[in-house]
Amino acid sequence: MTAQPQGAEDRLRRLTTIWSRAVFPVTSTSLTRAEFEEQLLPLARRLSEALRAGRFDAAEGEAVGAALVEAHCTAPEALSRSLDCLDAYLVLYCGEGGDQEALRARCSRLQHAMAAGFARALRRRTLAEQEAIAQAALRAQGVVAQALHASEARFRAVFEGAAIGIGIADLEGNVLQYNGALLRMFGSEQNLRGRNVREWAHPEDAPHIWRLYEELVRGERDHYRVEKAFSRPDGTVLWTNLTVSLLRDADGTPQYQLALMEDTTERRLLHLRLRYEATHDALTGLPNRTLFFERLDKALNAGEGHRFGLCYLDLDGFKTINDSLGHAAGDRLLVEVADRLQSCVTAPGEMVARLGGDEFVALTTAADSRRQVEDLALRIMNALGTPIRIDGRELTVRGSIGVVEGAVGERSAAEVLRSADITMYRAKSAGGNRFERADPEADARVITRHGLTTALPAALDRGEFFIEYQPLVHLGDGSVRGAEALVRWLHPQHGVLGPDRFIPLAEHTGLIVPLGRWVLEQSVRQAREWRERHGGDTAAPLRINVNLSPCQLRHPGLVQDTVEILEHEGVAPDALCLEVTESALIGAEDEVLEPLHRLAEMGVDIALDDFGTGYSNLANLRRLPVSALKLDRSFTQSMQRFPADPVDLKIVEGIVALAHSLDLAVTVEGVETGAQAEQLRILGCDTAQGWYYARPGPPERLHELALADATG
Ligand code: C2E
Ligand code: MG
Ligand code: MG
Repeated sequence: MTAQPQGAEDRLRRLTTIWSRAVFPVTSTSLTRAEFEEQLLPLARRLSEALRAGRFDAAEGEAVGAALVEAHCTAPEALSRSLDCLDAYLVLYCGEGGDQEALRARCSRLQHAMAAGFARALRRRTLAEQEAIAQAALRAQGVVAQALHASEARFRAVFEGAAIGIGIADLEGNVLQYNGALLRMFGSEQNLRGRNVREWAHPEDAPHIWRLYEELVRGERDHYRVEKAFSRPDGTVLWTNLTVSLLRDADGTPQYQLALMEDTTERRLLHLRLRYEATHDALTGLPNRTLFFERLDKALNAGEGHRFGLCYLDLDGFKTINDSLGHAAGDRLLVEVADRLQSCVTAPGEMVARLGGDEFVALTTAADSRRQVEDLALRIMNALGTPIRIDGRELTVRGSIGVVEGAVGERSAAEVLRSADITMYRAKSAGGNRFERADPEADARVITRHGLTTALPAALDRGEFFIEYQPLVHLGDGSVRGAEALVRWLHPQHGVLGPDRFIPLAEHTGLIVPLGRWVLEQSVRQAREWRERHGGDTAAPLRINVNLSPCQLRHPGLVQDTVEILEHEGVAPDALCLEVTESALIGAEDEVLEPLHRLAEMGVDIALDDFGTGYSNLANLRRLPVSALKLDRSFTQSMQRFPADPVDLKIVEGIVALAHSLDLAVTVEGVETGAQAEQLRILGCDTAQGWYYARPGPPERLHELALADATG
């Protein structure tokens, strides 16, 4: 480069400014115009030098053309404007002092060279750009293809490697593809290849399975999930959790169905096994209580018009067998009984179950359950009839059966079973080896008995008990000598309850002790009142008879309580007679008799109640501190017939003679007719009690009666 004088340099700048102003508007450069001008300056210098160079070099012009493209002056106007500008000003500003003609010629050639260089550069650049795009496109394609490949491979891997069975079918149901897991589930290709989904109907299919299928292939649903069984070629059954999804194309048109299957056969078997164990008795293999209740519930909910029958069996004396022969023998016996019971229930709708211990139950839901259930009970009794051989021994097994039969929908399973249980106990207490039919009244009694037991203690506190008095009449002169106190319970719901309903319960719970003390207090107070009102009107003062329970006999406070009560009321001991039932005293140990002896020594009378009902070792009477016998009502009853049974008469006569020889008075109970009274009087009985004279009643009645015979 030759150094330019200052003036030449200024002119070069001016040329460059004009050039840049012409071209800048049509460039796509990101530079400012000033920056762009700086970019053009070396190009202008290069042209200026080429213009004046000793030898013309076209390459300089081409290079400037190419440089324009580089400088983003790629628009056609950029070239034409540049050429126009150089044509007008290059020689003018840069050709000072030279041959103007030669300079103009050289300027033209430079313009041609520039145009050529520009075009070539532009082509190269376009090509480069196209190439870059093509390359990018190619690269992009490669990436996409790779991605597709990868996802396909992933899908394949999932499809093939899945533990879950996967199958694809078209909408007609033709199987197109399936994976290894599905093949393993089905066991062989033959069951899959070329098959149609519709061939896989199975007898265990729930009806809705095929409805869901049709909805899916019609495009009305996108998936469904069911539990489904398939038959394998080898005859076994494959159980699956089956999920079927509809595959649609990009427009949403249904194309394929995709099935995912999970093999649940083993789980199902395990479940069945566990269910079996949970619902069957391990020893006998019979259905257990749980399953029985399920069946009974189902039977009781069978709807109107259906009936059911049930036999509740409890073996008689099983505990003895268990205790004497051991539990292993007991178990074998139960297994044998279970087998026999099983053979009794052969008709449809019949089942037998073991409820526990030696309790079994047989259920029938046959239409004619009334006849069926009694047949069933008889079959069971018969089946038990043949002795069972265990350890070389022949064991006779007997059972008590409670039979319940009825229309369904009236009672719950628990109520039915309770009734059966109560009835079975009734069969047992009637001696066993029999069946009894349920009786709603008997059930109700048992059920209220439970309720009564729990209500007893509060009843005493609330004053729900009261006492009726039944006169004791002298058979010789018909005068009232006293009365027996008989307790009653005025129950808020059940009304007046007799002692037979609650005394056993009170004995059982121990409440009899405070209740008995209360009866004694009331009765002694009553005796005092009679005495006060009667004064000396009658020959003998009125006496009071009070019943004592065996429990009270054993209670340590008996003597003390009695003494205190008598003293508190100011009543002499000989006005009181305590009645003790025969069975409580015969064979009793001396400790039990001791308090009675002490009471007797004090002057309290002791009467042997219900005499003749226990086994009576009459010689034993001598040991007992009793002063009277109360002949049981059963003797009196036999005297109602006329003529009375001569044997009974002899027995009573004998008892009376023996009693009198032991210095015991004889009272008879249950005298209902004048004939009886006369008969008993002839036989030598001393006093009598019964409806013939008076029913038990309020204390005032006795007073009236006593007054009547005093005045009459
Ligand atoms: P028991 O001591 O043998 O009482 C006689 C039972 O015979 C009474 O029954 C009485 O009502 C009934 N009776 C009386 N005359 C006749 C008759 O002519 N014909 C018939 N068929 N029956 C008659 P009740 O009152 O039901 O008493 C039953 C049993 O309850 C009594 O038998 C007694 O053992 C017991 N008992 C009653 N009150 C008490 C009590 O305060 N304490 C205890 N521990 N037991 C009591
Ligand atoms: Mg009595
Ligand atoms: Mg009695």
